[in-house]
Amino acid sequence: MVKIPEVMFKYCPKCGKHSKMKVKQEKSARRAGGFSAMARKEKNKRRGYGNLGRFSKRPVTQTKMASKTSKKVDLRLACPDCGKSWVLSYPRTKRVEFIK
Ligand SMILES: [Zn+2]
Repeated sequence: MVKIPEVMFKYCPKCGKHSKMKVKQEKSARRAGGFSAMARKEKNKRRGYGNLGRFSKRPVTQTKMASKTSKKVDLRLACPDCGKSWVLSYPRTKRVEFIK
């Protein structure tokens, strides 16, 4: 479990200074469907490798993708001064708790 503060002191690229920002957890739907740019590149590189699933085995992609039990966390930061918001990705964890 990871404890994340509700308010972070972070740099805003639009204002050009640090300020206290509210942190929210981005809904996982953003990541659920697609791949990131790096993951897409990796996927293309591996084209043509690995089994496709025959009589004894399932395809390599099915077994490997289901093996992870944790998820990457996406945090949405919002600047109180200019209103700009962006997503900060966090390492893999099973559970997230926001602390004050
Ligand atoms: Zn700002």
